[in-house]
This record gives sequence, structure tokens and C-alpha cells, in this order.
Amino acid sequence: WKDNEYIEKLVKELKDNGTNVVVGTLDNIINWGRSNSIWPLTFATSCCGIEFIALGAARYDMARFGWEVARASPRQADFMMVAGTIVHRMAPVVRRLYDQLAEPKYVIACGGCAISGGPFKNSYHVVKGVEEIIPVDVYVPGCPPRPEAMIYGIMQLSRKIKVEKFFGGVNRQEKQRDFLESHP
Ligand code: SF4
Repeated sequence: WKDNEYIEKLVKELKDNGTNVVVGTLDNIINWGRSNSIWPLTFATSCCGIEFIALGAARYDMARFGWEVARASPRQADFMMVAGTIVHRMAPVVRRLYDQLAEPKYVIACGGCAISGGPFKNSYHVVKGVEEIIPVDVYVPGCPPRPEAMIYGIMQLSRKIKVEKFFGGVNRQEKQRDFLESHP
């Protein structure tokens, strides 16, 4: 801050008036809100998707973390949980869905298939990891991973978002663009 003195004076005045004050950087405040309201895209391709569905039900209740609601439109979702096997025919669709997510957007590769092709990695028709198509932020291993592991994965994403910098940090969108250009 250039005007540190002014802010200190303002905080003191508010405190003297008996008002509660919380001071933080704009990055912290924006990220606090974003990291506690990340909404997934409604998307799954096979068995891992069943565990993802369990996250939304009463037993695991992802809404308590602020991750409700799974959105049917990529325009309204913050991240994509790739839960399931991706075959080559699906690859362009996965890429299109990713492209349609609003910025800033994130990807979690969930389960062996999404990470490396899983049990099908030696077959001719399966993509050997979704990172061949789109950039991945968090990997959750398992076949399938339990819902607890998925919750842990989303918590890691939330932690990543908390330390992102909007001002003067690494330009995330530029990094994503570089990735997409090198993976046409
Ligand atoms: Fe199914 Fe296992 Fe692949 Fe998940 S990782 S989609 S459970 S085969």
C-alpha cells in the first residue's frame, strides 16, 4: 500500500468507535471468497463418477464446504472433476467443455483413468491421462478414489486458490494458454 498511514489511521478510528475491523490484501479477500465457493461441473464418464455423485448426497455432503452446486453449464462452473475413463473420441468434447468454463478455471484428475489411463492404459482407445488434453491442477489417485479422497483433492484445490495472486503474481491464464497451444 502506498497510503499505509491513511489506512492505519482509518483502522484506528474504526477501532476507537468500537467497530470490528479485519484488514487484508485484496488478493486475500478475493481468494477467501473464491476458495470457499468453488462449484464443479456436472461431468463424469464412468465408474469414478459414481463416487463423485456420492459427494453430493447426504453422507458426504460437499455443500458443507461451499462446493455446491454441481452446475450443468460450464459457464457457471469453476472446476471440472475428470472422473472416469476418457477415450479418444471423447477427447475433443472434454477439451470443448474445458474451453467453455469461465476463467479462472481448474481441473482435478480423479482416479487412475483420468491420471494415466488406469487399468486401460495399454489399450488403443483410451487417452493416457487427461493432461494430454487439458491442464490439471490436482491429481486424486485411486480406482476409484473414495469420496473422502475426492474431498481431500478439492480441499487441495481450495488451498491453491487461497495463495493465488491477482496482482504481480504468475499469470495463470498465460500459463494455461501456453499449455493449450502446445497441446492442439
Ligand atoms: Fe473406473 Fe477405476 Fe477408471 Fe475410476 S480409475 S473410471 S474406478 S476403472
